[in-house]
Order: sequence, then structure tokens, then C-alpha cells
Amino acid sequence: MLATCTTLRLAAPRSAARFHACSFVQAKETVESLTSRVDLRGKRVLVRADLNVPLAKDGSLTITDDTRIRGCLPTVQHLQNAGAKVVLCSHFGKPKGEVDPALSLAPVSARLSELLGQEVPLAADCVGADADAAVAALQDGQVVLLENTRFHKGETKNEPGFVAELAKHGDVFVNDAFGAVHRAHASTAGVAAHMEHSVAGFLVEKELKFLSGAVDEPARPMAAVIGGAKVSTKLPVVESLMAKCDKLVIGGGMIFTFYLAMGHSVGDSLVELEQVEIARRVIDMAAETGTELLLPTDVVVADAFAADAASKVVGIDAIPDGMIGLDIGPDSIAAIEAMLQDCQTVVWNGPMGVFEFEQFAKGTMAVAECMGALTPKGVTTIVGGGDSVAAVQKAGLGSQMSHISTGGGASLELLEGKVLPGIDCLDEQ
Ligand code: ADP
Ligand code: MG
Repeated sequence: MLATCTTLRLAAPRSAARFHACSFVQAKETVESLTSRVDLRGKRVLVRADLNVPLAKDGSLTITDDTRIRGCLPTVQHLQNAGAKVVLCSHFGKPKGEVDPALSLAPVSARLSELLGQEVPLAADCVGADADAAVAALQDGQVVLLENTRFHKGETKNEPGFVAELAKHGDVFVNDAFGAVHRAHASTAGVAAHMEHSVAGFLVEKELKFLSGAVDEPARPMAAVIGGAKVSTKLPVVESLMAKCDKLVIGGGMIFTFYLAMGHSVGDSLVELEQVEIARRVIDMAAETGTELLLPTDVVVADAFAADAASKVVGIDAIPDGMIGLDIGPDSIAAIEAMLQDCQTVVWNGPMGVFEFEQFAKGTMAVAECMGALTPKGVTTIVGGGDSVAAVQKAGLGSQMSHISTGGGASLELLEGKVLPGIDCLDEQ
């Protein structure tokens, strides 16, 4: 069956590339430039970090990956050395505006204390009397962590009353939560208007430097590889990426919505019916914009969503009823590898299959290895997205990529050329 599959490529001659310059990115003041011209001794600096670390699934509150905590250390330590009083805040999980003890930042304050080699107390709330007292008790160079900002509904709603309460803790705002800069929330954007200065932290600066390079003047051809399971979040992104990229590879759980748009049956595979129209539009746009679009032509289907499911490779016109597509097939892997060979920039977000199960990890690992091999040839390789990054790390290829982004959604929106509220609110340089 797979021998009959050929790579489906929908291409037309490429017209002049269309870009939105992302110069707003470079124009923002950074924590480094601020400390070089303003004395921060005695100032309270509210630092929004992304401390949303993964916890073990056994309820033990063990942090399984502390990368995000480590990520904020350069900014925190720089501010400590400048004599500032550092007030850290972050969201943690999705408590939906209510206090949920399972989503307390307590494990984070413990780990942060270890990493900084000094006690980082946790204020019982991010606003109100406890927070006010904890901040008032700070000496120059000390750090306090405020409890989960999403324990309040005003956080995600960017509600003015909550914004004002939170902003009271700082004279200066530093946004270092790259993973959340695409959100217009109270702690990521709202508080900036209340501050003497609002600047980008080191992590945000580093991400912007790297990613804006890929947006403004990418080395071409440029390919985007988009997969994963969040179809409704990512399909609109695919649509805007069409204008930016020379080549676009679709993989993972996204593909079945495309197959429906093409009139194939998809068995019990992941689909989002309300996205079929967008998928159809993406296929049409490929021809209009001259973007080479690669949709897998073969898939690995399984009789259950399980590590030990019985599986086989089928062409996309032969997905049996009742079976679930869990990875891209070998023809498609070969086609992707061939397509990426002449690229000078490759941006990847979203695994090609359910890589958590070994027998469905081949497509994801092949993309990781292919990109890892392109980097030493001078190709700019960028990976974003929690699960994609986890897959790359699992393959031991993290150091083989030009850049591993800490923000999946944020990096994609930046590449799309969207204005990021958490950056837009910062001071101009
Ligand atoms: P990222 O975190 O990199 O942005 P997503 O969160 O969108 O990526 O998606 C990651 C998830 O997608 C993984 O847990 C993976 O198991 C899942 N996935 C990939 N391919 C499929 C598929 N064919 N069917 C269902 N889930 C899939
Ligand atoms: Mg994910």
C-alpha cells in the first residue's frame, strides 16, 4: 500500500516574500541597559517570570524539569547585584481564578532557594496584606516570590483593580516570562503602565534576538514544520505562516483535519471539525503564495491509543474505520528529510506523532535528527513548544539546535509577525 504513495506537494512559483518588519523587538529597553543608567538600590522590581514547571504526575509535588526556574536566574541575580528588592511573580497551571493548593508555587520557592543559595520566601498571595507585608520586609538584594497570579480571575482578564493591586509591589517592571508574552494578562502586560520603568529581562531579550532574526531577515529557503495536538490553536498560525515561509510541513495530530478537507476518511484519528474550513483555505493559499506545502502521504495507524497497540502503515486514502493515526509513515519521513535538505532556516513546533509511545516516535525523532544534522552545515534550526522541546531533549539533540525556545505559542506568534502584548507594553530604548 505504501509503495503507491507519492509525496503530496502543492506548489506554485514563489512570488515576492511578504514580511512585517518586527523592529519593535529590538527597540525595547532591557534590564541590562536600565541598570547601566538607573540606580536600582532600594527600588522594588516586580519580575514576571515563567515558573510554570512540570510536576510529577504522582501528586508528590516533585518538579520534573526545572529549566524554567533556571531560566529566570540571570535576571534575578543581575537585579540582586544591582541592589534591587526583587519581587518575583508567575502563573502556575490553570487554577481558573480560584485558589487551588495543588497549584501553589511552594515547590518552586523551595527549588529557587536551592538554586540561589538563599531563602526565597513565598508570600501566601500575590496581592493583599500578606503580599504587601512580604514586600515591605525586603532588604536590598533580597528576593520574595508571590503566590500563583492565576489564583485571581483578574489576572487573565487583565482587570484594572487587580492590575493596580499587583503593580503596587514594584517601582520597576521586568518581564522575563517569554512563554507568556503573547498573553495580555495583568502580570504580563497590565502592570507596565503603573511603573517608572518597564523592561525586558535577559531570557526575553535572548529569545527576541534569536527569533526576530528569523522573522526579519531569515536565511532562505525557510521551512516551518508544524505538528502536535492543538489543532485549533495552531491551524490559524499555519495560515499566517504561509506568507512567511517558503516551505511548510504539516505533521502530528494536525494532518487529519487536512485529510477531511481533502475528502479522505480518518477513522478515529484526532480531528477538529470546525477547523476543516481553515485547512481547506491553507491548501488553497499554498498555491496562491507559492509556498511548498508538504502533507504526509502515509500514516501509522493503531487499534488503540496505547504504547502496545497493534499498528500498521497505510496510505492516507486507506485509513481504516476504527483505527487511529498516531505517527507519520516512512514515505512521509523521507519526503520531509528531502524537503529540508536545501533549507537555510527551519522552525519546528509540534511533534509529528505520539512520541511518548516509542513505536509512534519515529516521525518526531526523524525530524529532530534531520534538523540536528543541518545545524553544523550552517542552517538555523529553531525548536519551540513544550512537547517538541521535550522530544528533542529526550533524543539528546538539544545542543544540536541553533535555538531552543522556552515559549511555544509566543515563538509562533512572533514568527507570524504578531504584536506580543508582553513586549509591546515595555519601554522603548
Ligand atoms: P507543543 O507542546 O510542542 O507545542 P502540542 O502541545 O501541540 O505541541 O502537541 C503535543 C502532543 O501532540 C504530544 O503529546 C503528542 O502526543 C500529540 N500528538 C502528536 N501527534 C498526534 C496524533 N497523531 N494524534 C494525537 N496526538 C498527537
Ligand atoms: Mg504542548
